[in-house]
Amino acid sequence: MPKNVKTLIMKFGGASVASPDKFSSCAELVAARREEYPRIVIVVSAMRGMTEQLISLAQEVHPAPPRREYDMLVSVGERISISLLAMALAAQGHEAVSFTGSQSGIMTSSHHGEAKILEVRPKRILEALGRRQIAIVAGFQGVSLEREITTLGRGGSDTTAVALGVALRAEKVEFFKDVGGIYTANPKVALDAELISELSHGQALEVVNKTGGQVLHPRALELAARSGLPLHLRPFPPRSGSGTTITSSSTPLSCPLYEK
Ligand code: ASP
Ligand code: MG
Repeated sequence: MPKNVKTLIMKFGGASVASPDKFSSCAELVAARREEYPRIVIVVSAMRGMTEQLISLAQEVHPAPPRREYDMLVSVGERISISLLAMALAAQGHEAVSFTGSQSGIMTSSHHGEAKILEVRPKRILEALGRRQIAIVAGFQGVSLEREITTLGRGGSDTTAVALGVALRAEKVEFFKDVGGIYTANPKVALDAELISELSHGQALEVVNKTGGQVLHPRALELAARSGLPLHLRPFPPRSGSGTTITSSSTPLSCPLYEK
C-alpha cells in the first residue's frame, strides 16, 4: 500500500444498521468522505439484535451447539449487513463490494467462538481499492489456518476494524456509535456525564475497562495501542460535537501487531 494514499476505516455498529433505512444513512456518511480519502474500508456489525436472535435459534436446536456450527451460524448476521450496505451504496451511485472475514484475509486461531486475529492478508481488499471500489468487510469473523469459519467473541467487530486499520496502514479508524464518544460516566443514565474529547490509548483503555467495554471493545483498543493507530469515536446519527479522539504521542511498540 503506497504510503501517500490516504486510507480511512469506518466502522458501523449494530445500532447504526438497526433497520433497513439506516443503511442509506451510513452510505451517505461514507460517500461524503470519498473526496478526502481515496481508499475507504467499511467494517460493519450485524443489525441490532440479529446476533442474539441467531444464538437463540441455535439453542432451540441444541442447548450447547457444536462450536464450529455456532460460528457458521452467527457469522451470518454480519454477512447480511455487508451486502445491504453495498446495495445502499450502489443505490446512491457508488461502487462498493462486500467481503466476508474469510475473503478479507482475517486469519485467526481455531478457537471457535473466541478466535484471536493472528494476521491479516488483505489481498482482495487491496484489489478492490485499486479498482477505486469501496470495500465493505464483515466484522466479528475470520478464517482459521484450517480454513474453518471462526468468530471473535461478542463485540468482536471493533477488533476487526482495528486489525484492518493496522494491516492497511490507515490514517485512523472512525467508530460510529449511538453514544457519540467516551464520557466521564454513562450518558444514558448520568445527566452530568461529560464528553471527553481527547484521550491517549492508555487512558481510553482504563475508561473502557471500567465501563465493561460498552463503548469500544478493549481488545480493539489494545491492538490500536500496540501499533499507535489513531481512533475516532463519533456519534451516529451524526450530530454536532466532534466525539472522542484517541491518539498517543509516544512511539508505539512495533510488535506483535496482532493478537498472538
Ligand atoms: N454482532 C456481533 C455481536 O453482537 C459482533 C459485534 O457486534 O461486534 O457480538
Ligand atoms: Mg452486534
